[in-house]
Amino acid sequence: MNVLVVNCGSSSLKFQLINSETEAVAAKGLCERIGLDGRLVYQPTGGEKEVTEAAMPTHTEAIKMVLDALVNPKTGVLKSLDEVEAIGHRVLHGGAKISDSCIINDEVISVIEECCDLGPLHNPANLMGIRACMELMPGKPNVAVFDTAFHQTMPEKAYMYAIPYKYYDKYKVRKYGFHGTSHRFVSKETIKFLGLDPENSKVIVAHLGNGSSISAVVNGKCVDTSMGLTPLEGLVMGTRSGDLDPAVLEYICNKENISVSEMVRILNKESGLLGLSQGLSSDFRDLSEAMENGNPDAKRAIDCLCYRIIKYIGSYVAAMNGVDAIAFTGGIGENAALVRKTVVDNLSYLGITLDEEANKARGEDKVISTPDSKVTVAVIPTNEELAICQETAELVKNQK
Ligand code: ADP
Repeated sequence: MNVLVVNCGSSSLKFQLINSETEAVAAKGLCERIGLDGRLVYQPTGGEKEVTEAAMPTHTEAIKMVLDALVNPKTGVLKSLDEVEAIGHRVLHGGAKISDSCIINDEVISVIEECCDLGPLHNPANLMGIRACMELMPGKPNVAVFDTAFHQTMPEKAYMYAIPYKYYDKYKVRKYGFHGTSHRFVSKETIKFLGLDPENSKVIVAHLGNGSSISAVVNGKCVDTSMGLTPLEGLVMGTRSGDLDPAVLEYICNKENISVSEMVRILNKESGLLGLSQGLSSDFRDLSEAMENGNPDAKRAIDCLCYRIIKYIGSYVAAMNGVDAIAFTGGIGENAALVRKTVVDNLSYLGITLDEEANKARGEDKVISTPDSKVTVAVIPTNEELAICQETAELVKNQK
């Protein structure tokens, strides 16, 4: 089944056309600067990258350009749009009402609308992408794959914040967690790749990218995750602070005479690796290069990033009363041997030893712990687009 996978941000739209059976990507690309001047980058597999500058006032024009590119007689990969059998949308927040991917109908749209408060940047953009596809490809099934869904199996003790219960009652303030598609895909793949018993397994997935989160998965079900009500909680990320004493907000707001929303923006956009490195970079590659050249700001940022991961892994081993496997994924998790080594060297108390040679691995499923290690550590590349394609195809097939 040909599935168009769509991931809308507030001013961008990423897409891939994937065949769910062969897993082959026919074409992929990105619309940028939607609402401003507009730019489409389109690449058919095996072909040249094409860049087209054209006005895209809304996501509808952006999707229209993508569809035109896919059926373009010269560089397109489809004869007609009839060959697109379903559209899979990445949707950020499904709140507490949605615990799985679903075929989009009016009810699903109202849940996504209701959750705009919880995901103010993403949910409205996701809705625009959904509405544009419905308008331009009427009658085709659209599926929503939620970033929060996989984490809905967390028990109450893991998702509640210890604040007055009325805020949960009135506003549903609780931990939701994100990157669920990746955590589901990687935990499943880890179980399969390592031959673990799906009904008797404890896995920790560390998804480390620009945004990072870590999850504890027992028998294939999420029992805890580091992101919270929003993606701000948890690990040290590219520009997000992750965990901190909430009183820091009031303290800095008073000292700097700024509003809480300005402070939250700083915690989201100017903190993490970028903040710790005094503005040097939010990108791990830049920082690791700078650290090699002796830059103390880069070293501080990387030290803090690794230390937080080590603490979370320790807490999830405790929460699950053990662990069978730890999987690294995401841009940093899949590529940064230094981060994996720093983290794994600090897990010797679990009887884990790193296979230094195997740790040079990049971009493939690979065990990086030694054969006598008590817990298996592996690199398991994530593929969120493929996961969205597969979940979409499965739902659409079952519906037929
Ligand atoms: P996003 O959260 O935007 O999807 P990614 O998963 O692509 O992010 O991860 C981006 C991060 O991965 C950046 O910090 C980048 O520096 C890092 N990264 C990507 N490739 C490498 C590499 N080869 N070595 C080290 N770090 C890398």
